[in-house]
Amino acid sequence: MIVSLREITENTGKTEKHQGSVEFMEVAVNGLRYPVISASPVEITVTNIGNKTVSVSASGGICVTIPCDRCLKAVNVQIPYDISRKLDMKKTEEQRIAEMDEISYLTGTNLDIDRMVYLEVLMNWPVKVLCKEDCKGICSRCGKDLNLGPCGCADEPKDPRMAAISDIFSKFKEV
Ligand SMILES: [Zn+2]
Ligand SMILES: [Zn+2]
Repeated sequence: MIVSLREITENTGKTEKHQGSVEFMEVAVNGLRYPVISASPVEITVTNIGNKTVSVSASGGICVTIPCDRCLKAVNVQIPYDISRKLDMKKTEEQRIAEMDEISYLTGTNLDIDRMVYLEVLMNWPVKVLCKEDCKGICSRCGKDLNLGPCGCADEPKDPRMAAISDIFSKFKEV
C-alpha cells in the first residue's frame, strides 16, 4: 500500500489517518522463507510537524510460522510492530540514497507502507522460537521427538572408556 505524502507535506499541522494492509506473504530471514499466516490492519497516522517534516506512525502485527529451535515443530509466532519515524521531505533523492533506511520505503512523496512494515518485522524478528518453554527437542541419535516420551538411547549402557573420560572432564570442571 502506498500513502501519498504530497498534500500533507504542504500543510503544516495537518494530520491524516489511514488504514492499510500488509501485502507480503512471506518473510525471508537468513535465506529461509517463513509464511505469513495472518496480519492485522496497519493503523497509520501521518502529521506535518512543521519545517516540511512529516512524522509517521504505523502499528499492527503479523503472525508467521517458524519451526521450534529444538524439535522443528511449526510454531505460530506473533510479531507486533510500532513504527515511529520523522521524514524530512526537504531532502533530495540523492540525500535519501545516502541514508539507506528511508530510501527503501520513501520514493518522492510516496510512502510504501508494506516495505516499511517488512523492514520493521525483520528488526523485531525473534531470536529464539520454542514450541513450549521446556521443549525437550529431538534425540540427536535416533531423531525421536523427546516431548512424546524417552527414546531409550539414554538407557543404553555407556561405554566404560567413555564413562572414564567424562569422569575426568567433570573433575576438571570442579577445579
Ligand atoms: Zn519444540
Ligand atoms: Zn534416541
